[in-house]
Amino acid sequence: MSELHDECGVIGLYSTDTSVDIVEETYLSLYALQHRGQVGAGIAVNQNGTIRYYKDHGMIPEALPEKELARLGNGRIALGHVKYSSGGTQVDHENLAPLVMRYIKGQLALCLNGALTNYHELREELHQGAAIFQSNGDTEIIAYLIASARINASTIEEAVQQAVKKLKGAYAIALMSPSKLIGVRDPMGIRPLCYGKIGTSYVIASESCVFDSMGGEFIRDIEPGEMLVIDDEGVHSYRENCGGKTAICMFEYIFFSRPDSVINGVSVNLSRQRAGRLLAQQHPVEADVVCGVPDCGIESAIGYAMESGILYATGLIKNKYIGRAFNNRKRNSEYLMRIKLNALKNNVNGKRVIVIDDSIVKGKTSRHIVSLLRQAGASEVHMRIASPPFRCPCYLNSDTTSKENLIAATKTTEEICAYMGADSLGFLSVESLKELAKESNLSFCDACFTGNYPLDVSDTSREDKYSKKIES
Ligand code: SF4
Repeated sequence: MSELHDECGVIGLYSTDTSVDIVEETYLSLYALQHRGQVGAGIAVNQNGTIRYYKDHGMIPEALPEKELARLGNGRIALGHVKYSSGGTQVDHENLAPLVMRYIKGQLALCLNGALTNYHELREELHQGAAIFQSNGDTEIIAYLIASARINASTIEEAVQQAVKKLKGAYAIALMSPSKLIGVRDPMGIRPLCYGKIGTSYVIASESCVFDSMGGEFIRDIEPGEMLVIDDEGVHSYRENCGGKTAICMFEYIFFSRPDSVINGVSVNLSRQRAGRLLAQQHPVEADVVCGVPDCGIESAIGYAMESGILYATGLIKNKYIGRAFNNRKRNSEYLMRIKLNALKNNVNGKRVIVIDDSIVKGKTSRHIVSLLRQAGASEVHMRIASPPFRCPCYLNSDTTSKENLIAATKTTEEICAYMGADSLGFLSVESLKELAKESNLSFCDACFTGNYPLDVSDTSREDKYSKKIES
């Protein structure tokens, strides 16, 4: 139960059959990405070049009520987005996606998962050209760059390729022109993006679990740097930005993605189980049961149990029915945490418990978990973490935590263990990370554990990014 928040999720559908209810298909598919963002959701549909959209705060059912979706009508191309908070700030309505804009060639809709590391530079450049922004997000910058490039470019593909050449950072983009659906993944492949089919629709999505949950067919990952264009002529791949050094986000395997997704040829579920097995080898301890912190610690706990031979048991129950409104309540956080997570007394009372979580960010949740297990009667609580100490902020996703908030940036393992009140604490070693996705021949980003950022992050203070909005 990481204190790190999820990423955003993007989806785009192109139907070859006009009888398909594409809004309904997008709405249902979006549910498979709900874990990537719960702050807002939106859908845009394109009917012969006219784009209608609806977006609002909250989880999908709350943000996208039936009566609003009915007003969107139907079409052959659609985009969907689930949003997580950028920079930990409250998300204004104009920062929700899809972003729909009118420009010289008609309408354009766009949604993004990722974060630009040259946001300030690009925004300043556009400001100097008298650009007027509605939002303070990266999506609008990208839309502006595409619209500007389109003035001289002969096709939307050319305009997108020119625009993305100016971007630095992590991005998985789904965009819709009057007649095309386009997906673009950053050259390092930091954020995931794949494509497949659902019925007669071609689909671009953040994760492959979309295809399983809709009874569709996963075709392949969009390659780092690749642009995929879907139109009436079929699927076209543009690879002129492919072939460079990759930096696939390791945290997709540890936390962001759903366990039933396969990213870059690596099963997220198997990757987490492998982390659990490695933890058991690196930090063995005598105990009666192993339990996982829902949701992302579960698979690693199963791996730990398999490797150690210690019984796996459900030790913690997560309340799955909590939405944004609950998270915004002004109660003390201890109280809220108790409602979100509870210990299962029958399985831990009088037992020596190993509890596995995916990561520790601030440490407060881990401390609460140890306390819950002790109150439920656990005689010993040994915390094991299926990732190395999280020491450095990530500037490449939508929710950047500052270094002061990272407990492992300032405390040793022993100090963190004492703070949590656990009997012992063990992290996965940094060297083990390469084992988690060993089937892939791509290179990975592990900067939040090592500080080795794959690109320049000196222009990336999210706080500055948002205060800049007020100044301007
Ligand atoms: S710094 Fe961490 S969370 Fe950010 S992209 Fe790299 S591995 Fe992923």
